[in-house]
Amino acid sequence: RDLVRAEAAALERAAEGALRPKDLGEFVGQTRVREQLSLVLDAASARGRSPEHMLLSGPPGLGKTTLAMIIARELGAPLRITSGPAVQHAGDLAAILSSLEEGEVLFIDEIHRLARPAEEMLYMAMEDFRVDVVVGKGVGATAIPLELPPFTAVGATTRAGLLPSPLRDRFGFTGHLDFYSAAELAQVIERSAGRLEIAVDPDAAHEIASRSRGTPRIANRLLRRVRDFAEVRGTGDITIDSALEALRVYEVDQRGLDRLDRAVISALCTKFGGGPVGLSTLAIAVGEETETVETVVEPFLVREGLLGRTPRGRIATPAAWEHLGLAAPPQSAQ
Ligand code: ADP
Repeated sequence: RDLVRAEAAALERAAEGALRPKDLGEFVGQTRVREQLSLVLDAASARGRSPEHMLLSGPPGLGKTTLAMIIARELGAPLRITSGPAVQHAGDLAAILSSLEEGEVLFIDEIHRLARPAEEMLYMAMEDFRVDVVVGKGVGATAIPLELPPFTAVGATTRAGLLPSPLRDRFGFTGHLDFYSAAELAQVIERSAGRLEIAVDPDAAHEIASRSRGTPRIANRLLRRVRDFAEVRGTGDITIDSALEALRVYEVDQRGLDRLDRAVISALCTKFGGGPVGLSTLAIAVGEETETVETVVEPFLVREGLLGRTPRGRIATPAAWEHLGLAAPPQSAQ
């Protein structure tokens, strides 16, 4: 089952890769970050030097990896991709750092999940372009300093606040990505449809966009699923009728809640009487990892006004009860 999952994930990644915008001009929305980034990049190229390290923060699927690729491309620099969880030991990071080419862009996804020793090595490398490579073990171990060529680290994190400040302070620029409007997502969908050579009616594009939770990754994924449906059950063209029917089949409701979102508010209402309940208890109740509930599900539900955070835990709002078609008990309506 894990193999099937891994294969499905690889297919999704490949499909996603094909739809990535290649330059800042193709990148939809995020006007402020785009403007800031292009200033940083233009200034660096005018000086003929690598730009300062950059941190991109924001929920998953909003374009952080895409921006890192665009940064490397605009700089005409090679790109190395790794992630916090992939770097288990400081030695893994030393191997990556010591093989960087001059000017290379090093993208570190989920940088807040780096282990402490790797994190310390990284901020020294970012600050002084130097790493200490430890040779030998125990009392005989020696640290050999190694000079690194100038490089640009691009870190991505779901929340900049998760980074310890010594690391955060090494970034000369931080760009915050926000959720996209439905109009922007409709643009993403139209662009992707063009790439995939499928016809999408504008009202269908808008309907898919408004159920995509402000997230381009979800917009593209829903588009592919709706396309499957339209190809199998219809002519292949995406009309409002085929879009609505497909979204019903995939259990994506009008507000863009999927099964997991509904499972969370439903557990909150039916198992915990509307809360307050701790995040990890809630995650266990729906059989998901706490981090997934915290970074993927919760920000969306909070934004939709369906879930509230209180010092004593998560609570269902009256709108959550209403969305599930349940009557709110009197105390949760305050
Ligand atoms: P993140 O790294 O933040 O999780 P990605 O950069 O992997 O997100 O983006 C996910 C998908 O969404 C990519 O396939 C990309 O094509 C698409 N995407 C993200 N941002 C945009 C955007 N601004 N315009 C068009 N497509 C986008």
